[in-house]
Amino acid sequence: MFPVLLAMTATGSLTAGPSDKGSSGIRFPEVNQVKIEDTFWKPKLNLWQKVTVNDVFDKFEGKHLEHPGEFCNTFENFDRVAKGERNIGRHAGAPWFDGLVYETIRGVADLMARQSDAALEKRVDGYIDRIAVAQASEPNGYIDTYTQLMEADHQWGERGGMLRWQHDVYNAGMLVEAGVHYYNATGKTKLLEVATRCANLMAEYMGTFPKKNVVPAHSGPEEALVKLYTLYRDNPGLKKQINVPVVEREYLRLAEFWIEGRGKHCGFPLWGTWGNPAAEQWIRDRKYEAPEFGNHTRPSWGDYAQDSIPLFEQKTIEGHAVRATLFATGATAAALENRSPEYIAAVSRLWDNMIGKRMFITGGVGAVHFDEKFGPDYFLPTDAYLETCAAVGAGFFSQRMNELTGDAKYMDELERTLYNNVLTGISLSGTQYTYQNPLNSAKHARWGWHDCPCCPPMFLKMMSAMPGFIYSQKGDDIYVNLFIGSETELSLSDQSRIRLTQKTGYPWDGSVVMTVEPEKEKTFLLKVRIPDGHRESRIHTICIVRK
Ligand SMILES: [Zn+2]
Repeated sequence: MFPVLLAMTATGSLTAGPSDKGSSGIRFPEVNQVKIEDTFWKPKLNLWQKVTVNDVFDKFEGKHLEHPGEFCNTFENFDRVAKGERNIGRHAGAPWFDGLVYETIRGVADLMARQSDAALEKRVDGYIDRIAVAQASEPNGYIDTYTQLMEADHQWGERGGMLRWQHDVYNAGMLVEAGVHYYNATGKTKLLEVATRCANLMAEYMGTFPKKNVVPAHSGPEEALVKLYTLYRDNPGLKKQINVPVVEREYLRLAEFWIEGRGKHCGFPLWGTWGNPAAEQWIRDRKYEAPEFGNHTRPSWGDYAQDSIPLFEQKTIEGHAVRATLFATGATAAALENRSPEYIAAVSRLWDNMIGKRMFITGGVGAVHFDEKFGPDYFLPTDAYLETCAAVGAGFFSQRMNELTGDAKYMDELERTLYNNVLTGISLSGTQYTYQNPLNSAKHARWGWHDCPCCPPMFLKMMSAMPGFIYSQKGDDIYVNLFIGSETELSLSDQSRIRLTQKTGYPWDGSVVMTVEPEKEKTFLLKVRIPDGHRESRIHTICIVRK
């Protein structure tokens, strides 16, 4: 960070200040507090809000198909569950489609927070009504349409189920995340209530003995539960609007159990040695329930799901790259709250390994096609896999590391990923997407839709959250993290306001003009990130103080 010491007198208008999130002292504004005004991002955000989100919802509804059949509409899964259908042997889409729908709702929520959109909100409210009715069909709040329609006796992958395939906990976590973001965007509590009911069920059921040893086999829920915890902690009045008990400490505790519980299992199956089919059969045969394994055990989900050894022993980032980066993001989010030195050391190690030895120049991660996983150090071939979702996960991990430490190097890597391996995930039309982003892209065209359409929702999550990452502050220190034409108002420790306006043609040219308009005379630091690789002179930052 290049500090600019400013002392000035001026006037400015008043708007809401940033929320006091995270206990590192670093605060990021909400997405609706930063207005993007530029020629690069603003037209794209408008396109994604107008075209892409409706395209994604349409395709989840099967509208792109020439001959849509009975099980082509993802949302009808919720309707079937709502009607009490169970074990019918059919389900629209893969087991994780509930989670993908929830992720899209989260992305749409952040886009609507930036710019309200009545038609889109009505569309999402319609989906939320269907999700809520589906949940109400199960008295305890459990909801996972794949498990309910296909193998209803195997909730959370237990009793001969296979969580690594079913994704129950991942789906529930994405529901929680969507509930939090949709509340923040609209003030509506319906989805948040559904999410809280589901979180309560998990917090009652999963944990240290005598609760069940269930951890997500696909990460994401860890950060989601931390978000649910901080939402209620910071807004205690909100609990009165929710018609279910709110036990926010339990949500953080559950996230910590999921994080610290990795690698703590019966030691089997040996995924790498036995191969996936034999390992899955061993789990389906419930061999992990043998008495010699004790009364609080479970099967291992393997390296693939960051479950071979405990987090605090992990030295390198391993396994499925989307899971690995989201696991690290969740652990970093939890570290912001518990300030555990073990957590901080572990996530720092994983980030250093990822960035130093396993990330491509584009910010892409996850070099290996088989299991969509990280390769060994310095394995960086030009035809590497590099899933869009993995880059999104890496970007969120970097942003959380910056929130934890304030170090600009993390924002260098968020920026690298954002422009080079996330933005590639969509066409200029806003309706074609990528899964893989190899350096040599000759064999990979964008597609309209995919059997596993995980990347469009993850793309939307990152891009809709991005405006909130441009600025941050710690006490009276203000950070300029990203160079994007924008305006914001932040409040300082004496409650006085400061307006920041950034004008830039970045990334096409390196001039950045910051206009700083404080409400009253005040001494503070404006810390501007000098991008890695531009430390000589290519970025010119001019600060104008308006009196
Ligand atoms: Zn993906």
